[in-house]
Amino acid sequence: MSDGLPARLNEVKQRISAACRIAGRAADSVQLVAVSKTFPSELIREAYDAGQLTFGESRQQEAQPKIDSLPEEIDWHFIGRVQRNKVRKILSSFSTIHAIDSLKLADFTSSVSKDLGVVPNVFLQVNVGGEESKGGFEPDELDREAESVFAIEGIQICGLMTVPPASEQKEQSRKWFSQLRDIRDGLEAKFAVTLPYLSMGMSSDYEVAIEEGATHVRVGSAIFGGRSYHVDGELGAR
Ligand SMILES: *Cc1c(COP(=O)(O)O)cnc(C)c1O
Repeated sequence: MSDGLPARLNEVKQRISAACRIAGRAADSVQLVAVSKTFPSELIREAYDAGQLTFGESRQQEAQPKIDSLPEEIDWHFIGRVQRNKVRKILSSFSTIHAIDSLKLADFTSSVSKDLGVVPNVFLQVNVGGEESKGGFEPDELDREAESVFAIEGIQICGLMTVPPASEQKEQSRKWFSQLRDIRDGLEAKFAVTLPYLSMGMSSDYEVAIEEGATHVRVGSAIFGGRSYHVDGELGAR
């Protein structure tokens, strides 16, 4: 059933290296977040045994038993929509949150982080395509609220994340990725902050994302195989 997982993981890594070369970037400037949502612990362990240490999950309840059963060395990234009532549990198990999508949520995450004595890495999610169905700050909303967001203590705001509109061809994602990079550059200049990371690119378009500056690519199906049902408007599970 898991035939070829190490080979697929290896191919993704090779392609990341090749994309880095094309973009004139160092191969270690991109982190692969292996998106294991909907896949069982056994497959995650297989990827771990093949050398993968960073995994992404999008639902706390689904992830917790996997996290509890797998080596502590694994670095877990929360890539899904963050529900307020799950923040405490997410912060207890995940080092990094990719989808902080409002000032209120950033504020709340900060207060829970302080309470727990942790300093999570967080990405601000930007809804570059302005899609109703997607979470994230609208670009102009982020511009208005950025000053307040950057003033929040207790969380390490390390960059921006996006899930661009779905498209048939990977090249169609390029403009959204370059837009996210431009938004990042604009925020850095205007607010004198450093936002070194860009979380963008999935199985279908991670190479394009790397050419446009991605530092974190979130790749699921290219490693673990296809998912076949939809959950919460996102492509879900087995
Ligand atoms: C599921 C998911 C991914 C991975 O998608 P693949 O197409 O399987 O690579 C990446 N990012 C987010 C936010 C996701 O929900």
